[in-house]
Amino acid sequence: MNRRSNIIMVWVVLGLIVLAALFFGSRDEPPAMAYSDFKSLIRERAVASAVVSGSEIEATLVPDWRTRLTGKAVLKKMPPGASKIVTTLLPVEDRYLVRDLEGAGVELKGEPSDLWVSVLLTWIVPLLLVMAFWIFMIRRQARSQGSVVSFGKSRVRVYRHDDVKGSFEDVAGVDEAREELLEVVEYLRQPEKFIRVGAKIPKGVLLVGPPGTGKTLLARAVAGEANVAFFSISGSEFVEMFVGVGAARVRDLFEQAIKASPCIIFVDELDALGKVRGVSMAGGNDEREQTLNQLLVEMDGFETNRGVVIMAATNRPEILDPALLRPGRFDRQILVDKPDRKGREAILGVHAKNVALGPGVDLERVAGSTPGLAGADLANIVNEAALLAARHGRDSVTQPDFDEAIERVVAGLEKRGRLITDKERRIIAVHEVGHAVVAESIPDQDPVRKISIVPRGLAALGYTFQAPTEDRYLLTRTELNGRLSVLLGGRAAEVLVLGEMSTGAHNDLARASDIARSMVTQFGMSQHIGPVSLDPRSQGAASSQDPFMAPEYGNQVADRIDVEVKRLVEEAESRAVSILTGRQRELEEAADRLIEREYLDGDELRELLEAKTPAPEGELSDGETDR
Ligand code: ADP
Ligand code: MG
Ligand code: ZN
Repeated sequence: MNRRSNIIMVWVVLGLIVLAALFFGSRDEPPAMAYSDFKSLIRERAVASAVVSGSEIEATLVPDWRTRLTGKAVLKKMPPGASKIVTTLLPVEDRYLVRDLEGAGVELKGEPSDLWVSVLLTWIVPLLLVMAFWIFMIRRQARSQGSVVSFGKSRVRVYRHDDVKGSFEDVAGVDEAREELLEVVEYLRQPEKFIRVGAKIPKGVLLVGPPGTGKTLLARAVAGEANVAFFSISGSEFVEMFVGVGAARVRDLFEQAIKASPCIIFVDELDALGKVRGVSMAGGNDEREQTLNQLLVEMDGFETNRGVVIMAATNRPEILDPALLRPGRFDRQILVDKPDRKGREAILGVHAKNVALGPGVDLERVAGSTPGLAGADLANIVNEAALLAARHGRDSVTQPDFDEAIERVVAGLEKRGRLITDKERRIIAVHEVGHAVVAESIPDQDPVRKISIVPRGLAALGYTFQAPTEDRYLLTRTELNGRLSVLLGGRAAEVLVLGEMSTGAHNDLARASDIARSMVTQFGMSQHIGPVSLDPRSQGAASSQDPFMAPEYGNQVADRIDVEVKRLVEEAESRAVSILTGRQRELEEAADRLIEREYLDGDELRELLEAKTPAPEGELSDGETDR
């Protein structure tokens, strides 16, 4: 379709040019004269007849005009051998023109002005040209995006599979996310294999992580690895559009995608679209809500086994509408966190691939001095270093170039308060190891799989990647008590090792208090209160949403609950303290390792603690995610 209409386009433009050329070229115009000279010709009776049209007079001269003009000034201006002349009418009216013409016995004719010609020239031709230019630009733009975009359809970037350049090789330092995404790649490569077995493939995959960690990159890599079409649109693009088209756009997007399956639909910046709906002081954003609703409808509407996987990315999962996270929607969440030291080195490697590195360059060292930086920052550093080298006229990038680049990038980030000091890192490390050591020392706690202090990762955004305990497990009282100790282990370690506590534990304390309160008021696990439920929220689904509902007990009971909660938490804390006191040496050693590498394997920790029983793989302990 593209080629043919292009050719037609060319013909139309050519035709117009030819037409215009004919129009101007066909009339071999008589010589033009000044209006005043024309009037002199009339006076000298040199004009035989005149045709007056729109803005011109074409005059036929008498055959012997030369003799009639002898001695007159006009004669010099007359073209020799002319039989006709034209002149342009003045823009001001010449009231005597007709009288003069008649007086001179000139045969006078009128001609309808060339209305259609002038309309054609002044309106239609420019209009056609503008349209042609417009269509041409749009086509060119469409081509440069590698997509087929039609008017009125969604402004979705479509990459045909041979156009998707991404591959997992471009993404480093996010091994866990990559592993999880491999499953999606597998499915997109051979959907039949999965359909045959009746395996359910996640419909929606949500990439969650701080900005610049490679979420967009990963999504494209999945499409590239699976070799399928990639429909990409950003949430803010949906919303920015004219009113009323957001929802239509979503419908359209899904239509196109299903036609092109297997494929990936990627909604970048989902939070722009998927903010919690409903009560908004500003009167709400109906447009956004409609779009979001349509997205939900479409996600529910098509079956999983159509070879379409919806991916989305967000760095603010906490503000997403819970409806988006329900089963059958974005029920698979993949954490794309900031890279640790090893990861940073790998990312630097990826970006330094096409940069000429001098012999002294040590990327490991660069990685070591850039804690808390995301992939995008690291890419920036490599580029800055290369720019510096080029500016100094060097052939390759040297380590001092890198040092300066780091300084520049980091200074920029420092201003935005995104970096963490060494002192803070030590506190964080001790705190996290505290959680982990307590978790490993209490028999029935989930084994620690990983401790990480990558600064300002997702956890610092107030996000914990932890399954809710209330609904999914039946927990015994012993387990809950153990959990309380683990939660308090962070703070206890800080006090023990550093002699002081920090604000870092406030989330732990809040959670510990919640658990303890639930134990007392919901689970009847306190002897002093007894086996009764005192939780106002558990008294009926309808009222359970109301945060202001008053409890149905008096002050005295409330006081007793508070005392009980406090007792439970304090007991848990002293247990944590005694565990940690017994293992202070290991605790400090683990913290040192953690500071150096920002990451500690559960097995490594257990080795350090010389735990006799190797723990099986299991749920992540809380020690690593909360801060
Ligand atoms: P996000 O979508 O998470 O905000 P992007 O995927 O847009 O981040 O990453 C921006 C740029 O940063 C990428 O184009 C890439 O150059 C670089 N980058 C980010 N993360 C990585 C990574 N893990 N590996 C390699 N490069 C990365
Ligand atoms: Mg992005
Ligand atoms: Zn903690």
